[in-house]
Amino acid sequence: MLDILFPKICPSCKKVSLKNEKLCKTCLSDIRFLNNWNLCSKCGVPFGYFDSNNKDNSMLESDSAGHLCGKCIQNSYCFEKARSIAIYEGSIRDLIIGFKYEGKLSYGELLLEIIKTNFPEDLDEFDSVVPVPLHIDKLRHREYNQSVIFASGIAKHNGSKCDLFGLKRIRDTVPQIEIKNENERRRNVKGAFSISKDKSYKDESVLIVDDVFTSGSTSDECSKMLLKSGAYKVQVLTLTRAQAM
Ligand SMILES: [Zn+2]
Ligand SMILES: [Zn+2]
Repeated sequence: MLDILFPKICPSCKKVSLKNEKLCKTCLSDIRFLNNWNLCSKCGVPFGYFDSNNKDNSMLESDSAGHLCGKCIQNSYCFEKARSIAIYEGSIRDLIIGFKYEGKLSYGELLLEIIKTNFPEDLDEFDSVVPVPLHIDKLRHREYNQSVIFASGIAKHNGSKCDLFGLKRIRDTVPQIEIKNENERRRNVKGAFSISKDKSYKDESVLIVDDVFTSGSTSDECSKMLLKSGAYKVQVLTLTRAQAM
């Protein structure tokens, strides 16, 4: 009865969904989850996904398990490991955009649920969860930092500490996804973060949380700061992964 009075609308495609589903079946099946893909064991880039037309799950065979991508062979990152839940495209991309830029706070709960249900099994234990901070100017404009909502939810789920203000953005930057060149992306975030005064991560394993991993420059820059402040291990979890062009 209630369903007829208040039909459920799928937040992604806006179609009426008859069942009490948060995301309709079509939109859910549209999400490309990464838990079955062969990933670089360090940075988590899905082998073969972005550079071929092979977008079915035929890479399921774990013949590349434990392998590193070209960037990680050259030791490009100082974090220990990065993992993402899904590819930044289709319905999940729409939800992130709605959540980040259109004030759809309820999408945050839905996205957090997706993170919790698909939490990567091969992340090591962590003591603290730290969101990638927004610059204060962006925060004023948007009123909330989406990564804070993910980070606090993950910490609660995992029983670890959540450190919302440990990492600060001291300089505003252009969104990495809008920059097409890797060197430019590195330059864009270089020196953009610092650790709050009196804060130390001595002997802690830290998990950085963000919504999109593009080239890894942001995560790497944050990792550098956390390691400098005493963390013995930094891992990264992002909701999605975008192609770094
Ligand atoms: Zn839908
Ligand atoms: Zn890699």
